[in-house]
Amino acid sequence: MNLPNNAPLEEIYLQNDFKSGVRLFLKREDKIHPIISGNKWRKLYYNIKFAKKNKINSIVTMGGAFSNHIAATAYAGRIFGFDTIGYIRGDELKKLNSTLSFAKLNGMKFKFVSRSLYKTGFFLEKYKNKKKYKDYMIIPEGGSNQMGIDGCKEIYNDIKIDFDYICCSVGTGGTLSGIASKLKKNQYAFGFSSLKGANYLNDVVRGYTKNNNWKLIMNYHFGGYAKINDELIDFINFFKEKYNIQLDPIYTGKLIFGIFDLIKKNFFKKKSTIIAVHSGGIQGINGINDKLKNNKIII
Ligand SMILES: *Cc1c(COP(=O)(O)O)cnc(C)c1O
Repeated sequence: MNLPNNAPLEEIYLQNDFKSGVRLFLKREDKIHPIISGNKWRKLYYNIKFAKKNKINSIVTMGGAFSNHIAATAYAGRIFGFDTIGYIRGDELKKLNSTLSFAKLNGMKFKFVSRSLYKTGFFLEKYKNKKKYKDYMIIPEGGSNQMGIDGCKEIYNDIKIDFDYICCSVGTGGTLSGIASKLKKNQYAFGFSSLKGANYLNDVVRGYTKNNNWKLIMNYHFGGYAKINDELIDFINFFKEKYNIQLDPIYTGKLIFGIFDLIKKNFFKKKSTIIAVHSGGIQGINGINDKLKNNKIII
């Protein structure tokens, strides 16, 4: 098992009239693997190594209906030889959407839990019985444990150019935590939250790094997790047409929309270099398109 090493930096050539001399590069973590894409492979990597070394048979994890982590874990379980059990947020999902169908096809067993029970995490208690569940390993939501965050540090290590800013999407905060903990003093990280009102994320990231040259940006969530509107869909489709790069509607579409908007508003200093992390998530598009009732879909 090798560390992912095929996530190149690609420059996004901006229109002169709005770029104030800034240069934007996309770190193509989405190219790492078609299924275990982007930060989910980074986060699973050390977890899977640990599981192999410790003769773990079953991985227990959890996530929502469109979770890239659920899809990635199911797939990784199949190819690396682990049973996978996924606790899914929301009873109503027993009618599987495309993400969950994919995970099932890859052998994941589901347990559906109500949103309120999911929040408490009580369903994990039984796995603490180490006698009965000694071959089990729990990986938290989004893969964001210390090993997952260590994997995300590699995103930073893999960037071979000087830069001023690095921007990434935020769900659980694991990716931002890994990146922020590697920053040099003259660099700054911005995490664009895909969740509404998720101020607790500040504490999450502070728990993993003493650096304070990072900030959460809270106004490009488009209403909250997995919420979208026509403006966002138009932007994702525009970006694909212009740059031939697919963004996803839950994370990276919101991130790049936000970066473009902030560049237009001269938020970044003149002539600075910005890295945006394309963290993957393309598998989620089908599920979102199925949900869209109007004619506008992600192409
Ligand atoms: C999970 C995910 C994120 C969020 O990463 P966190 O480490 O949970 O903050 C961002 N982008 C994509 C594509 C993801 O799948």
